[in-house]
Amino acid sequence: MELEKQLVIAIDGPAGAGKSTVAKLVAKRLGYIYIDTGAMYRALTLKALQKEISLQSEVNLAQLARDTRINFIKKGLEDRVIIDGLDKTEEIRANRVSNNVSTVAKVAEVRGELVRIQRELAQSGGVVMDGRDIGTVVLPEADLKIFLTATVEERTKRRYQDLQQKEEAVSFEQLKEEIIRRDEIDRNRDIAPLKKATDAIEIDTTKLNIDAVVDKILTICQEL
Ligand code: C5P
Repeated sequence: MELEKQLVIAIDGPAGAGKSTVAKLVAKRLGYIYIDTGAMYRALTLKALQKEISLQSEVNLAQLARDTRINFIKKGLEDRVIIDGLDKTEEIRANRVSNNVSTVAKVAEVRGELVRIQRELAQSGGVVMDGRDIGTVVLPEADLKIFLTATVEERTKRRYQDLQQKEEAVSFEQLKEEIIRRDEIDRNRDIAPLKKATDAIEIDTTKLNIDAVVDKILTICQEL
């Protein structure tokens, strides 16, 4: 699909609302690049856990953010996440990372470092970026802001299916608690909390399939 202008599209929302699946497909249909900002916070969290850096030490986490190179590359049709030259695409999705990432993402200097990179990546337009603070903080001038939501039951169901495919053992109830806890930290942090931008369009994906959400967003793009 060709649009007149190279748009900047921001997609935010809580865990499991479908952001990355939808963002990836919207980017593909428009021939845009897709930037998964959650993967960047996950990358730092994985590295901190592996290096046994205390997640309570903001100074050490800030240093880690400055010392880490995170790249997104395309391998065939797949987006791969490269940390300091090594492919860590699968590892950053482990539940252990999910359960610690919000602690790392609270740190001001970590956010400062990652937001700077995110803005650089979006500079030339033709980009779909997803996260928690894209429409509010990272790209407040985005051409289109979408806020995706779904009930916590539905979001847990989606994550549960993802994890089962990876054969990570976790019960539905436990996962639901973990998602609620992560959203709570993301919503209540001091810096760049998860929040719908005042000019964002909210789409409740609870009862919509992926294609319906993608089509809705593409229709809005054509009307801009
Ligand atoms: O989107 P994903 O679930 O991979 O994000 C992982 C975590 O990274 C979020 O729960 C949040 O703590 C953090 N994050 C953030 N700001 C963003 C993207 C993600 O704080 N823009």
